Amino acid sequence: MAKANKAYVLFGAPGSGKGTQAEQLVKHYGFVHVATGDLFRENLKQNTPLGQLAKGYMEKGALVPDDVTARMLKERLQRGDEAPAYLLDGFPRTLPQAQMLEEILRELGIRLAAVIFIQTSDDLIVRRLGGRLICKACQTPYHKTNRPPKKEGICDRCGGELYQRADDNPDTVRARLATFHSQTAPLIEYYKKAGLLHPVNGEISAEQTLQEISEILKKY
Ligand code: AMP
Repeated sequence: MAKANKAYVLFGAPGSGKGTQAEQLVKHYGFVHVATGDLFRENLKQNTPLGQLAKGYMEKGALVPDDVTARMLKERLQRGDEAPAYLLDGFPRTLPQAQMLEEILRELGIRLAAVIFIQTSDDLIVRRLGGRLICKACQTPYHKTNRPPKKEGICDRCGGELYQRADDNPDTVRARLATFHSQTAPLIEYYKKAGLLHPVNGEISAEQTLQEISEILKKY
């Protein structure tokens, strides 16, 4: 297979279902999922200088500075995966990041095909993130009531241990939502103007949302 020369952005508030959709899209289409939050958490786990820098921001529900995040993303994309496309999740989150993304993609010869915007209300997000569990090993997301694992505390897929993210506590969730509305939401207008924005409903079942996304992917 050739190196990926196309990218999709999965865009939405924290808890809108980006991770859940990404998991299915990787399975169905063979995309390479690149989530900046996962990259930061990996650095945190390994206690790298990047992880140490990101930690304070993440704990507060704030954004890691744009240049640091963009550099990390560029290094990841420079690896040049063989896949039909990249699925970017959690990047861009600010207008400068959107501009940096254009530059990075241009340099690497990758085309941004579509921005898929998973629309959700804040109420739903607070409920969802309160019950979210994630596999330590493979990052598969679960939910205490909406998507419980077959065996409590254990990932169905890889047997890894499930945990609750430190930043999924109510106070940090509220801070992350505020960050989304002030810094990330302006991207909606930006990508609408660029003709790249494709909204889907994130309040229906994950299967139905996936169906809406698949319809978009057929065209782009
Ligand atoms: P996520 O897993 O996407 O919710 O990201 C978790 C945390 O990582 C965020 O709350 C930020 O602190 C940081 N982060 C992830 N992606 C970015 C980004 N594109 N820009 C700045 N900070 C980010």
